[in-house]
Amino acid sequence: MNHDGLDFDLHCHSTVSDGALVPAAVVARAAVQGVHVLALTDHDEVGGLPAARKAAQAAGIAFVNGVEVSVTWRGTTIHIVGLMIDPEEATLLQGLDSVRNGRIGRAQRMGGELAQAGFPGTFEGALKYAGNRSMIGRTHFARYLVEIGAAADTRAVFKRFLVPGKPGFVRHEWTDLATAIGWIRASGGRAIVAHPGRYGLSPAALADLLREFRSAGGEGIEVVTGSHSPDQYALFAAIAENHDFLVSRGSDFHAPGEGNADFGKLPPLAKHLKPVWHDWNL
Ligand code: AMP
Ligand code: MN
Ligand code: MN
Ligand code: MN
Repeated sequence: MNHDGLDFDLHCHSTVSDGALVPAAVVARAAVQGVHVLALTDHDEVGGLPAARKAAQAAGIAFVNGVEVSVTWRGTTIHIVGLMIDPEEATLLQGLDSVRNGRIGRAQRMGGELAQAGFPGTFEGALKYAGNRSMIGRTHFARYLVEIGAAADTRAVFKRFLVPGKPGFVRHEWTDLATAIGWIRASGGRAIVAHPGRYGLSPAALADLLREFRSAGGEGIEVVTGSHSPDQYALFAAIAENHDFLVSRGSDFHAPGEGNADFGKLPPLAKHLKPVWHDWNL
């Protein structure tokens, strides 16, 4: 199939994780904004995929089953996107369930830390924003902190709160890199490093990450994403080319007006790169 000129958006979120729209509404928005091939990639959960696929059929766009797995690598949280997964495969489902397990306890501790910093009631406040209780996370806290006026918007929240060294940050051990890749591959999917520019890794650490990622069966990296600057598009395009990785593209859309990640706005991938979809039959 010739994919030229199609808008592939292979990274976004619904209320099943920390997005603000239900899966069908995410798909409808993507279709209206010009996406031709969409993957829903909720954090650590695949429950939104059937409804999203149905909505994609209705909207006349192609749909790809996806997930974004939370990983801890050398103490840093890294996100691994799985594409073309089978959302009913048992190894993947059990694995994701184990990753979700710690979230409520972590969120209670975050609430405790924020109370000590002068912001009581944030666990309950964040829960109001969590469409899926077991997926409560930092974005839900961020939305509540904006609601109570602690910061102007979620971007500002992540400068003053919820990140290492700031109130509300709680260290958490997700799954490890090779295990996450193993689940994705067990379900027939392809593993991609999400937004590699966002982890603050030194060039040497990034090279180590990519080496371990590949030896565990990882195949690609996101190059054009709502989380990268244009300079980072060029940097990660060069890294993909030099290391022979497939490349992916996705907005990382979470909510209308939240950040600047939205459908239909990203530039295309450079033509000489090999996209993750090069061998897909859509
Ligand atoms: P969690 O999985 O609970 O640690 O939450 C991670 C989520 O928080 C990410 O997927 C983003 O949606 C959001 N997030 C993390 N850092 C930032 C940031 N600097 N700006 C905006 N959103 C962020
Ligand atoms: Mn998120
Ligand atoms: Mn991510
Ligand atoms: Mn994401």
